[in-house]
Amino acid sequence: MKVLSVASEVFPLIKTGGLADVAGALPIALAPLGIDMRTLLPGYTSVLAKLGTTRIVCEIPDLLGQPATLLFAEHAGLPLYVIDCPEFYDRDGGPYVDTDGKDYIDNWQRFAALSRVASDLANGIDPDWAPDIVHGHDWQAGLAPVYLKYSEVGPHTPSVLTIHNIAFQGQFSAQIFPALDLPLAAYTVDGVEYYSNIGYLKGGLRTAWALTTVSPTYAEEILEPQFGMGLEGLIGERVADLVGIVNGIDDDVWNPETDKHIAATYNGVSLKRRRENRLALIHRFGLIANDGPIFCVVSRLTWQKGIDLIIEAADEIVAHGGKLAVLGSGDPVLEEGMLAAAARHPGSIGVVFGYDEPLSHLMQAGSDVILIPSRFEPCGLTQLYGLRYGCVPVVGKTGGLADTIIDANGAALTAKVATGIQFSPIDRHGLSQALRRTFRLFEDDAAWNALQKAAMKSDVSWQTSASQYANLYKTLINRVAVP
Ligand code: ADP
Repeated sequence: MKVLSVASEVFPLIKTGGLADVAGALPIALAPLGIDMRTLLPGYTSVLAKLGTTRIVCEIPDLLGQPATLLFAEHAGLPLYVIDCPEFYDRDGGPYVDTDGKDYIDNWQRFAALSRVASDLANGIDPDWAPDIVHGHDWQAGLAPVYLKYSEVGPHTPSVLTIHNIAFQGQFSAQIFPALDLPLAAYTVDGVEYYSNIGYLKGGLRTAWALTTVSPTYAEEILEPQFGMGLEGLIGERVADLVGIVNGIDDDVWNPETDKHIAATYNGVSLKRRRENRLALIHRFGLIANDGPIFCVVSRLTWQKGIDLIIEAADEIVAHGGKLAVLGSGDPVLEEGMLAAAARHPGSIGVVFGYDEPLSHLMQAGSDVILIPSRFEPCGLTQLYGLRYGCVPVVGKTGGLADTIIDANGAALTAKVATGIQFSPIDRHGLSQALRRTFRLFEDDAAWNALQKAAMKSDVSWQTSASQYANLYKTLINRVAVP
């Protein structure tokens, strides 16, 4: 079975968050199940620079008004289609924002182009390979099912759209519609029209054959206004076609036994080797070494991630003898709040702003706790890395965090199956209680050890989830076969 994955970021080529990890790992997990997954992504400047040998698949003289070349390449075991279109993708900034952090004003065009090429591939622009299924990720690929649905070429290829975060919807003015090269029928409630504007995610949710999101709990949460962000009604209408499949992790990239980014590789809960990583981390963050727990944060610094709650709890963490190491960037107000907390507690709180993949590994290997008080979390990956590395996750009880962590309540501790601490409600008070529980457990060496061991034994691989995706694809193919 041939599946085209359509993603705006793919690890290890380009990454701003969890989507890249998933897009990079899923094809590799699906290969043993007989699924030939290729990935289509934009040819950002940095991506083209990293590709080795490429093959020209075809020239596209008019990709929404611009000339483009579709390339094929293999990189890190991933077969890739890359759209080389300098007008859209040759930029100095990130994949979505310029060097000042502002959204590119032509994002609507840049990601419509991505979806358009996905549909063209399904319709045969590569004479050697055409997908049986098109699987798009997030709003950036939201128009792929729309282009497929309104394509004049038939039969229409089945499509899947995965929601990694419904907070990002890709909404644009209706004025762009003529430039999207879609028939007028697409500008309706059954297509891209969304409150007199155009919604890319909305259009995808309306037209994809199947919808998935990245955890069963989030699949239920987005039916509620609090989490659905305005799309809960539409998702409710499509609930029969929606499934939550939890993400796995790439266990080659995230393997404490072979990780080249950490100070000392270790096997199982090797406390001694973890201690070496702890020391390296203490050094890197300018912390004073003592025996208290080190809490780490590896995150976008945003309201969603509950970073304001951590800032409010910072004094409390230090008062209990804990340390805080923060790696991330985001909201300037939250960055300032973190800096102020670090200034109040030199040697106890350390902050590194920016994106640092190697350091993110050392943090999992050297900290005692990964703190994730997200207000909503479709799946979350850092808690999964924490499990693998014996860095105990302390998490808000929501979305994928609720699905992947077993709370250290009395029964779970007795049965030695607890893998972390969950708290609810996700507010200042809830976090405070969770911190108190964490400190108590940390003081009890045997209990803490058992927690780490159970965490490290958790199945965080892609295996189960990959077979769920494979089954979904099969169901759709069967639907095509049955007229
Ligand atoms: P989201 O996709 O919502 O940002 P996830 O937890 O799903 O959150 O994925 C975040 C990914 O990005 C993880 O792989 C995490 O390790 C990584 N990450 C986040 N911030 C940083 C950072 N500042 N430096 C390095 N890696 C980071």
